[in-house]
Amino acid sequence: MPQSPKNDIEQQLKTLETQLETQLKKLGAQINQEIFMQLKNTYLGRNGKLAEIMKTMKQAASADRPAIGKIMNTVKTNIEQRIAALGNRTGGGSTTGQAPIDLTAPGTTPKLGKNHPITQMIYAIYDIFESLNFEIGEGPEIENDWYNFDALNMPTDHPARDMQDTFVLPENLLLRTQMTAVSAREMEQRKPPVRIISIGKTFRRDPADISHTPMFHQFDGIMVDEHINMGHLRGLLHTVMERIFEKKLRVRFRISYFPFVEPGAEFDVSCTICDQKGCPTCKGTGWLEMGGCGMLHPKVLENVGYDPMKVQGLAFGFGVERPVMIKYKISDIRLFYQNDLRFLQQF
Ligand SMILES: [Zn+2]
Repeated sequence: MPQSPKNDIEQQLKTLETQLETQLKKLGAQINQEIFMQLKNTYLGRNGKLAEIMKTMKQAASADRPAIGKIMNTVKTNIEQRIAALGNRTGGGSTTGQAPIDLTAPGTTPKLGKNHPITQMIYAIYDIFESLNFEIGEGPEIENDWYNFDALNMPTDHPARDMQDTFVLPENLLLRTQMTAVSAREMEQRKPPVRIISIGKTFRRDPADISHTPMFHQFDGIMVDEHINMGHLRGLLHTVMERIFEKKLRVRFRISYFPFVEPGAEFDVSCTICDQKGCPTCKGTGWLEMGGCGMLHPKVLENVGYDPMKVQGLAFGFGVERPVMIKYKISDIRLFYQNDLRFLQQF
């Protein structure tokens, strides 16, 4: 004779309890957090064994349902208590809700991004020049012939243009080869005395290798006033370099030629790595070349509307990548642009 739905459900519930007991005995001391969660889902989950039996309730006669409900609740409570006890052992928490919140547990630290080492250096350089009363100059990365060359005393047929081969665009436009183009624009907008620092991307048609990339950053500064001389230039650059490298340095000028300055010089600092004992970075000379500088050529002053008989100006243009590479002993400039987090997270 087939069982009535009521007896059948009662039977199923009893079997379920026995099943759990047998399983627990078998597991013994092996119970860990993972097994605890599995048991909890298997027996008490939304699609668990107990829920399956509950679904069969509607097969029972309505008169039997209250009695069945009572048994079901007892069994459910039993199972819940059994499993909750395991939870306490494994730290898994209650069976009815989510795991309890431990207010004393350490929080999860979100992963924070940080500035690129080049950006960090740019901000540091801005800070240094702002403390010296310089204004920040800005200009377009796509520049015209005039500001990039002509205004800087490099007319169309000037041989110095060949040294700055870049990406040429139609209508006398090009990707700027030097930040001095921005200095020219900014000078034109103002009357002396002026102090401007411009930092940004510059472009040259150089294939990428260990020390070249077609795009790199420069900081370019000018200071125009009455009675400005090479002494101001040397003092200014000495201060700036010591603050960039965060150590005492010796500095020197080496005579050089740039069309937009007269006289022109290369500016060197004492090697920060070997303290002038000689090392591969300074090629044994004890000096590191930082960039070009000099007194603004009278033609340049005229081109931006200043009177070279009344004012003089100092100017300098240095790379941003180079001091970062020297400071952190980075041997390959390409590392800056490969977006490898293993590299970038070190700064
Ligand atoms: Zn050295």
